[in-house]
Amino acid sequence: MGLARPVVFGNWKMHGLRADSLALAGSLVERAVRPTGTLGVFPPATVLRDVARRLEGSRILAGAQDCHPEASGAFTGSISASMVKDAGGTAVLVGHSERRHGLGEDDAVIRRKVLAAQGEGLLVVLCVGETEAEWQAGEREARLRRQIHEGLAETVDAALLVLAYEPVWAIGTGRTPSLEDIAGTHAFLRRELVGRLPAAQDVPLLYGGSVKPGNAADIMALPDVDGALVGGASLDAAGFWSIYQAG
Ligand code: PGA
Repeated sequence: MGLARPVVFGNWKMHGLRADSLALAGSLVERAVRPTGTLGVFPPATVLRDVARRLEGSRILAGAQDCHPEASGAFTGSISASMVKDAGGTAVLVGHSERRHGLGEDDAVIRRKVLAAQGEGLLVVLCVGETEAEWQAGEREARLRRQIHEGLAETVDAALLVLAYEPVWAIGTGRTPSLEDIAGTHAFLRRELVGRLPAAQDVPLLYGGSVKPGNAADIMALPDVDGALVGGASLDAAGFWSIYQAG
């Protein structure tokens, strides 16, 4: 049960007008579907509907990069989980570091977003990761433990959950932890996650942060690494596809 491995998701961030996004989605659709695995893209909200339509029938899923914890209301600029679903999205990123650190989202709001998204039946990709200062101070595990325990309520549905480990200092920098370091952290995350949600044994654990065609195979071959969350390298269809093939 659970999502087929490898699970490879592309976070397009704030890139792409409609024509670019449709071209990228179309280029992925045209590639032969590999027999196993789960591929997904997270375009900007403005093009989610178009991209979701373009991907229909392809087995490639489309999701949003965020959602608001409330179902509706006076929240200018935000989109709700039901709006994501209404636009054809089946998944949502929650707690990406560019929102935690760039926009000040804390674990309490992230916890509410996870529940709101799952309440609409969306697959939640919860992103966790330590800053460089926390890493250097030996505080990585404490930080990750907090993000898991405070971000995930006990009622979270493990069947609608993916955890993405993205060290903040590795995102968009070209730097990655060593393979040994990634393997150790993922083993730690699996223990913490199952300690929090006993049903989470099968929740996919993705690594994210400067994943590229050149390092994807080695990273995804590690134990407890079930796939990758890819930012910059997901904007190039051929490169993103080769990352998927490497898993
Ligand atoms: P990157 O971003 O692959 O460009 O480092 C990853 C992410 O932010 O999800």
